[in-house]
Amino acid sequence: MRIDVRNCLISANISYKESGNNIGDGWIGVQHCPFCGDNRYHAAINLNSAAFSCWVCGKKAWIYEYLRAELGLTEQEVKDFGRQFFTLYGDAYKGQKRISPPAGKVLEFPSTFRPLEGVCLDYLISRGYDVSVAQRYNLQCADITDPFWKFRVIFPFYFDWKLVAWTGRTIFKDVDPRYKNISNKQSLMDVRATLYNIDALARNSILVEGPTDVLRIGSACAAVIGLEFTNAQVYRIKERGVERVSIVFDGEEKAVKRAIRLAKCLDMIGVHADVIRLPEGMDPGSMSDSDAADLRKECGVV
Ligand SMILES: [Zn+2]
Repeated sequence: MRIDVRNCLISANISYKESGNNIGDGWIGVQHCPFCGDNRYHAAINLNSAAFSCWVCGKKAWIYEYLRAELGLTEQEVKDFGRQFFTLYGDAYKGQKRISPPAGKVLEFPSTFRPLEGVCLDYLISRGYDVSVAQRYNLQCADITDPFWKFRVIFPFYFDWKLVAWTGRTIFKDVDPRYKNISNKQSLMDVRATLYNIDALARNSILVEGPTDVLRIGSACAAVIGLEFTNAQVYRIKERGVERVSIVFDGEEKAVKRAIRLAKCLDMIGVHADVIRLPEGMDPGSMSDSDAADLRKECGVV
């Protein structure tokens, strides 16, 4: 996600210089630093990251903080103003065109897959999941003859109710990688360009990190896969007409930081996002079903 810094400054009626003393490559200089009052082009904004930096007072701030100080705007005002300058994939966000999986192509499970059973089902039960989730999410497992997918719980990704990809979680501790994704050559959609359980997203939704979290939270819940969310995923959430999300990532510091970043990105394109912090060491997947029900209530998702 990128902000068009030039157009943003032009609309805010802030003059800038493309080159000159103190202005490095990829930066544009602004005359006034609202944090120290310097008025001689010692401050600049990075065109890529939209970070503001002042050479005099050393202040570093993201463009929103700079705009708030420079223009005297409230947080909401700066959000409303800045939204129009955000671009995704390099195209201005229009919120109209919705992507779909390629027409006429069908993805099928390999013949080594079958509905979840045996040790893979036992693994889910041992983690406190109800057997019914296997059917509800069409979870699969692979024959022992399938070297790539055996001993993994397979989570199919649907998009508009069509199978587009899958990921498999090992049932063993300390196996690396914990999740294996179908290759992009094989899948109809990159798992990083969609969300797990995306069709369940509603106006009021919950976002979690992994598919096992989705199994626990249930309705109106989808997962960004892996450590980092992508712009494409942010875009997809908006496309689904989501108006408000609660982000419930793992309790560890790193995950909380990511959740806050995701909330910021969603906020920028008009999706109201709240971050719900779990206690350190806890994740939605390890909650009890009744705690999950309480969480859903807290997030206003029924
Ligand atoms: Zn300054």
